[in-house]
Amino acid sequence: MAKLFFRYAAMNSGKSTQLLQIANNYETMGKQVALYTSAMDDRYGVGQITSRLNIQREAHTFNAELNFLAIDFSGIDCILVDEAQFMSPEQVRQLHELAHTRNVPVICFGLRTDFQGHPFPGSAWLLSLAEDVEEIKTICQCGRKATMHIRIDAKGRRVKEGPQVEIGGEARYRAVCGNCFYNER
Ligand SMILES: [Zn+2]
Repeated sequence: MAKLFFRYAAMNSGKSTQLLQIANNYETMGKQVALYTSAMDDRYGVGQITSRLNIQREAHTFNAELNFLAIDFSGIDCILVDEAQFMSPEQVRQLHELAHTRNVPVICFGLRTDFQGHPFPGSAWLLSLAEDVEEIKTICQCGRKATMHIRIDAKGRRVKEGPQVEIGGEARYRAVCGNCFYNER
């Protein structure tokens, strides 16, 4: 039986690279994948999944209104979702149901927490419902494992206040360990 997978990490961990690698593996076997990313992520143009190794693919987008259960996934062997932290709890539930009622594996990639260390609602639900949860490991500049990330402005200063979602624009992120998250200025 298919199940729901959640692969989570801090920023800049190569999540999109892993996602595109899995898509490629399926297609090499002659199978079909459906790719999704958040409509909010306009870093590379709407509906693009881009790895930092500069591989880019078009993807469907989800916004808050999308109902995954209303989509015809017949002929699809795997559903891959990037920026999965931006899904609503209802959408996570839909994908979980989809995996179990239509026997399609659903693999979600996303951040666990935001730049203030607060959980994204979608990620909290993914951590609760996914049958297979795995961390993609990243290293903090101090050498410890990075589990969080901080937002920095164009001048390299840390930003501690602001909206949870600020993709593109001036916001930049750096993966850090818990120690650096609380002690670094
Ligand atoms: Zn650190």
